[in-house]
Amino acid sequence: MSDLATWVDEQVARALEVGSACDPLGGPQATREWDALMREHGVAPLTPDERKKHRDEGPKRRGGAPPIEVRLVVQSIHDRAHAAWHKMDIDDEERRMSRRLSTLVEDAMRDYLARVAPPAPTTASIFANARATTPNYGGSVNAGMNQMKCTSCGAPRKTDGDALVCVYCGGTLR
Ligand SMILES: [Zn+2]
Repeated sequence: MSDLATWVDEQVARALEVGSACDPLGGPQATREWDALMREHGVAPLTPDERKKHRDEGPKRRGGAPPIEVRLVVQSIHDRAHAAWHKMDIDDEERRMSRRLSTLVEDAMRDYLARVAPPAPTTASIFANARATTPNYGGSVNAGMNQMKCTSCGAPRKTDGDALVCVYCGGTLR
């Protein structure tokens, strides 16, 4: 594997590890390592208020950095690798690198969102939930709500102005 491919793998793995391990609502100490990693990649952290908002209104997760911060870091890794790759002579290894970079950000985001997803519901809780919601006469309203979700992270659909991009994870809204 080329040095560049190794660098990309190491940087993405580190971003996902540090990002999923931190607690954005745990004060400066709990985010220090993640904040330093973001700065290293030239990415500005959200403000504490924004982090709280993303935690409250974004996709449900066990903890970890806001997905949009993780995306910006992985995008920065992508951009640096892409710039370096352009200076190389093309051979098979570089072609593989090109394919890797073409899906790097989306692959990393799928991995990250899976890491910070809440534990899967148990069978018992699924039945309890079904019983709790069975007498539901607002079906059409709920159906409408379900259509208003980000396809990547499941957050209620919320766009930044006219852009069809999820504000919580940066995924494409479809
Ligand atoms: Zn999203």
